[in-house]
Amino acid sequence: MAKKLFIKTYGCQMNVYDSARMADVLAPLGYAKTESPDDADMVILNTCHIREKAAEKVFSELGHWRLRKAAARAAGGDVTIAVAGCVAQAEGEEILARAPFVDLVVGPQAYHRLPELLARMARKQGAERQQAKTARKNQPMRGQSMQGLGVMDTDFPVESKFDHLPDQVATPPGPVGFLAIQEGCDKFCTFCVVPYTRGAEYSRPAEAVIAEAGRLIAAGAREIALLGQNVNAWHGDGPDGGAWSLGRLLHALNDRFGAAHPGLRWRYMTSHPREMDDDLIAAHGEIAALMPFLHLPVQSGSDAILRAMNRGHSADDYRAVIARLRAVRPDIALSSDFITGFPGESDRDFEATLQLVRDVGFASAYSFRYSARPGTPGSLMPNQVPEAVAAERLQALQALLQDQSTAFNQTMVGRRMDVLFERPGKHAGQLIGRSPWMQPVVVTDSGLAIGDVATVTITAASATSLTGQLALAGGSREAA
Ligand code: SF4
Repeated sequence: MAKKLFIKTYGCQMNVYDSARMADVLAPLGYAKTESPDDADMVILNTCHIREKAAEKVFSELGHWRLRKAAARAAGGDVTIAVAGCVAQAEGEEILARAPFVDLVVGPQAYHRLPELLARMARKQGAERQQAKTARKNQPMRGQSMQGLGVMDTDFPVESKFDHLPDQVATPPGPVGFLAIQEGCDKFCTFCVVPYTRGAEYSRPAEAVIAEAGRLIAAGAREIALLGQNVNAWHGDGPDGGAWSLGRLLHALNDRFGAAHPGLRWRYMTSHPREMDDDLIAAHGEIAALMPFLHLPVQSGSDAILRAMNRGHSADDYRAVIARLRAVRPDIALSSDFITGFPGESDRDFEATLQLVRDVGFASAYSFRYSARPGTPGSLMPNQVPEAVAAERLQALQALLQDQSTAFNQTMVGRRMDVLFERPGKHAGQLIGRSPWMQPVVVTDSGLAIGDVATVTITAASATSLTGQLALAGGSREAA
């Protein structure tokens, strides 16, 4: 009988991708994914280290799984508990010390070794059982402890995990297929843990990316999101032996699959302003199927703070990239990440951030109050900003960003656009899709199905979503 695997994914789309690939790695061992934690024979917590108190959240979740494991054991079964992702990488030893009932700790670069780790875990636990049996014979003891037997792999192996992942897609991708093409980061922004948890930048070869895109499309994906911590730093080997740029890769993907799959859409995330090269900017003007939306984190609009963050670009460099993108793709919408209260941020620095937001005009954004990550240079900076000041600035920034996203969404009312439907809505008959600009679009009683791409007329807009109707007159509808 198939064993049930429950994966809880935290954080970014890279983790969503990693979770799907972990399921692929475990499928040949008889594990089938379940959406119900109560059925699980194995749980993987695929963790994220970006946000505040990340490790504490994992320990609190593990408390729940400790009880589930104890109940399963009392009933003569077991639940294998694994912690993966960036918290596993950064705090693996601490996890095994504080939560000794955890069976496996595996870092983001080592999950292709899960079968090996499970075998190691079984050997270790088998030996412990044998030892306990012998000890009981010699000196009867009450109960049996299986605690403290966890195995850990947080190496950065020499081999790339991508070369060791199965070709088969065991988990159907859904309408949007996530495809990791790049991993790791060499930028070392002073607030960020990613270079320590994900390691150095690595780009997958172009042919491997094209082959995986083909598998996702064959499995039903209507949109492919190319992923990487610094996705536009991708410089994979091309079939011609030279290093390709991301712009060239996008052209190759579109040329290969576009004609046979009309309506297929492409995106990429998350990008760094320094890596927006000429090829990539040009690709936005040349490839219609590359969606007119770009998430391009800037973090601050103050040059002094950008320097302290080690971002490697100025606020005007960022403005210049946006101007060039808009010159080739006038309808492109921008999204960004912001941090308020980075060490040393003055009122003037913060005003520069507001000014940058006013200058660019964002369709959406993620913004956070700075909180120090242990081990990062930012955490050691002397001039930390009081939390209350950072929170007040965050509120002001979010008010401005929300005004901008509301205004942007309002411009959509009355327009027609192609929407890819991705999931059911809260109410009966509702479906939720994405516009080319990443806005959720809610349509009711349309007769559409998940995976359909259809032309929709937008009838209303809020700060966070659009409402629409299937455009029957002249509308297009492509079944998945
Ligand atoms: S570019 Fe900066 S923020 Fe982005 S992953 Fe690298 S270090 Fe972190």
